[in-house]
Amino acid sequence: MPCFLSKKASKIKPYAAGAQPSQDGVIKLNTNENPYPPSPKAIEAYKNFRPESLRLYPRPDGGELKKAAAALYGLREDNVFCGNGSDEVLALSFYAFFDGGIMFPDVTYSFYPVWAELFGISYKTLPVNDDFTIPADKLTGRGIVLANPNAPTGIALDLCEIESILKRNKDHVVLIDEAYSFFGAQSAAPLIEKYPNLLVVCTLSKAYSLAGLRAGFALGQPRLIEGLENVKDSFNSYPLDAVAQAVGSAALSDTAYYEEIAKKITATRDKTIKRLREMGFSVTDSKTNFIFAGKKGVDAADLKNFLEKNKIFVRHWDAPRISGYLRISVGTDEQMEILLSRIKEYISR
Ligand SMILES: *Cc1c(COP(=O)(O)O)cnc(C)c1O
Repeated sequence: MPCFLSKKASKIKPYAAGAQPSQDGVIKLNTNENPYPPSPKAIEAYKNFRPESLRLYPRPDGGELKKAAAALYGLREDNVFCGNGSDEVLALSFYAFFDGGIMFPDVTYSFYPVWAELFGISYKTLPVNDDFTIPADKLTGRGIVLANPNAPTGIALDLCEIESILKRNKDHVVLIDEAYSFFGAQSAAPLIEKYPNLLVVCTLSKAYSLAGLRAGFALGQPRLIEGLENVKDSFNSYPLDAVAQAVGSAALSDTAYYEEIAKKITATRDKTIKRLREMGFSVTDSKTNFIFAGKKGVDAADLKNFLEKNKIFVRHWDAPRISGYLRISVGTDEQMEILLSRIKEYISR
């Protein structure tokens, strides 16, 4: 029988997303979703959406969402590119900017090597330090892709460190993936005016509590945005549907609501980190809505399975350097209490 598949389709090892369990009563701490609902303004925009208007194609450039993102960051619309989730924005960016190869830390978002493979981009990994911090001065010589804060470690670089990476790599695009920058890290967006090589990628899935909507955007100087538009229009002209444009733009305009829930999440995070450290876990200094924790003598994969049997889902990677750790999304205080008591039960048996 003929193989039917392209070489890429048959050989590529795709990104494995966290499980979306369908059973009831689950405490879902495995994909960094927000435990709080989207802004009331976003919900109202959803309810006010006129389904009859779905007869028409949406604005190809993201429309209202593009406007709202520009306003939020004090930029112009030609500084913004919108996509179907930031994963799509990232994929198109890999295609648009990185013919010359890229570099990223060895411990980072595991989608990066997949896009590099898919598009035939050569990539080098930079080993992170033993404490999972990034030796940022060694990021140099090719395109740079950096999640800041990093995933799954949660550790953030300061803005001045990002700026020195930009200065050192003036001939290459430096892509900063800010999926989690709302939870305590500094955004690099204010540097866009100054650095034509900077692209900042943002999502509505985490801080904005709209993972199910699928919306993300990139910020950069018009030259980079044009490159992304070219690639998009060679693939799918309408990545953001009309509902996502209406609801996403309403969300971006409600900063006050999102600051309030981010404050709740970071308070819950810091309390939980403290408790885990008291139980002997080594926990990174997270600037995100997740916690990265491991304990000597505890088999992280086994702990993950134990929690899962108790309907608590967390994430574990059987990968070099991080197999002793779990990544735990920050839920509500009540959810974290249940998690902590199950962990206590596990380590004291
Ligand atoms: C969640 C996440 C994204 C992707 O988010 P979308 O839902 O596709 O917008 C991108 N980068 C990192 C590091 C993430 O954790």
